[in-house]
Amino acid sequence: MAGTALSQTEIRQVLEFHGHWCPGLAIGIRAGELALAEFGRAGDEEVVAVVETDMCGVDAIQVLTGCTFGKGNLLHRDLGKMAFTFYRRRDGKALRFLFTAEGIGGPNEEMAALNQRRSAQVLTPEESARLEALRAEWSERILAADPADLFRVQPVAGPPPQRARLMASLPCEACGEKTMESRTRRFDGRILCLPCFEERDRRL
Ligand SMILES: [Zn+2]
Ligand SMILES: [Zn+2]
Repeated sequence: MAGTALSQTEIRQVLEFHGHWCPGLAIGIRAGELALAEFGRAGDEEVVAVVETDMCGVDAIQVLTGCTFGKGNLLHRDLGKMAFTFYRRRDGKALRFLFTAEGIGGPNEEMAALNQRRSAQVLTPEESARLEALRAEWSERILAADPADLFRVQPVAGPPPQRARLMASLPCEACGEKTMESRTRRFDGRILCLPCFEERDRRL
């Protein structure tokens, strides 16, 4: 498998869902594609994804694999890494895809430097145009690459995360809003939702 095996229609669906084209989306497309090849498309909770980033690429994962935030079979672990782990409940298969782009020489250093200047909001218009060109080129290289050159595929030990469970809700005794029990806190004999609990904390 060399470049992306997805059809133009599939790529357009991802693009429409996300709203813009960017390198992060290209990474997510390739990770999603790899997941489809290894695990098949997720039926109801059959395949679970754990993503270690909450950036652009996760949108592609949702569209392509059927692991979605709303179904509860897409979980975010806030580790800030470009890594995507998939579990299949039926047979316990589990793999982590870590994006390194080692096989294509890694991200361009000039692009990284310009990205930093963009974060600091000090880009000149010329630099901005240059950065856009580099980002477009980088996205194309990601789409054209062999997945083996993009991701380190690692075995995963341990069971998949728990199934999404329906839990009882309790009314918060400060704001009255119903809140899933596991997200409530007890304070001074009262049951509070997290925002009300944090508010209490600040006032003391
Ligand atoms: Zn994006
Ligand atoms: Zn409350």
